[in-house]
Amino acid sequence: VADAPLLAVHDLSVAYGKIEALTQASLTVQAGEIVTVIGPNGAGKSTLLAALMGVLPTRQGQIQFQGEALGDSGVNARVARGLALVPETRALFASMSVEDNLRLGAFRFRRDASSLHQQALQEVFALFPRLQERRSQLAATLSGGERQMLALGRALMGRPRLLMLDEPSLGLAPLIVRDIFRIIEQLRRQGVSILLVEQNARAALKVADRAYVLELGRVVMQGPAAELADDPRIVETYLGLH
Ligand code: ATP
Repeated sequence: VADAPLLAVHDLSVAYGKIEALTQASLTVQAGEIVTVIGPNGAGKSTLLAALMGVLPTRQGQIQFQGEALGDSGVNARVARGLALVPETRALFASMSVEDNLRLGAFRFRRDASSLHQQALQEVFALFPRLQERRSQLAATLSGGERQMLALGRALMGRPRLLMLDEPSLGLAPLIVRDIFRIIEQLRRQGVSILLVEQNARAALKVADRAYVLELGRVVMQGPAAELADDPRIVETYLGLH
């Protein structure tokens, strides 16, 4: 489907038991875009990404990827179609090396596709020289910033069409946050489309093309990121006075 957005989410609702965490949310990501979803704690941002990845069942609504409905397909099927999620927890294998963690990210390619693995590994190392230096080190011993780089690198090993990032800057020092956002910009230049969930609205709006504001499970505002960054309501609630 040539003109369809890369990702189209229509009226998506997700509940935990009786509690609805996401209510009729709609959004799109065009190929090549960085789209950010900002909002306070508990707004439903992680829930949205988990539902898109197929980790959580949806109560209502549709998700289309490259023009095709994802329906109730599971995580593996979605990875195979080119979706990847870097969760807030980063979910690394602590007792495995950096390199082995990265190799796991290529699991959607055939086991014997070793030249492809090798090439993907070299690309990730080019993006994150720090990971190359530490390729034999156990993931458990990495710093917070290095862990985030490893989680990002592992997602990239699968060559995703849409990379979904859940609060990549969470818990990181300002200098490291800057590095992470620089990498996000670099990925976009390489043609990776990105759906970025952030509480750091300032940095997210700076890097994104378009933005959605999620509050109490609902999309309450949307528009070009630069416009939202100037909107008095956004400035007051999310950016503060600086
Ligand atoms: P944060 O930035 O704090 O992670 P968020 O915007 O990602 O916030 P979610 O984690 O998606 O928000 O949570 C949305 C709502 O769903 C919250 O009210 C939360 O308490 C609730 N929720 C999340 N996970 C569960 C769960 N496993 N069981 C029950 N309720 C949950």
